[in-house]
Amino acid sequence: MDRDPDCLFCKIVAGEIPADKVYEDEACVAFRDINPQAPTHILVVPREHIARLDAVQESHRALLGHLLERVAHLAREQGLADEGFRTVVNCGASAGQEVFHIHVHLLGGRTFRWPPG
Ligand code: AMP
Ligand code: ZN
Repeated sequence: MDRDPDCLFCKIVAGEIPADKVYEDEACVAFRDINPQAPTHILVVPREHIARLDAVQESHRALLGHLLERVAHLAREQGLADEGFRTVVNCGASAGQEVFHIHVHLLGGRTFRWPPG
């Protein structure tokens, strides 16, 4: 499995840097964002290092499907499903991507605006 020794989220996945983990399995890890933008703000990341959404290949299809299914599961588990929630995948500099290990933001517990800033 791909790993980048300098990547913050690879280190969290490996347990080398602490994180407030809420879920993990053989393919992904979910933990609370250190700088939450909503009452619930969780990041769901694959264990495999994929830098960004536009690096995704056909071979990642099942993994990405798994990530989104787990986001839906977490949203239900965290009690966000009835009111609604937002999922975000930032890709690249102008989208504001700061950590170059693909992750799905799961945000809930407040009302969101559209279009986003
Ligand atoms: P993005 O801008 O989409 O790359 O989002 C990166 C997210 O990672 C931001 O919301 C940060 O607050 C969050 N983050 C950065 N470092 C940590 C950390 N050590 N633990 C948890 N979340 C982090
Ligand atoms: Zn990584």
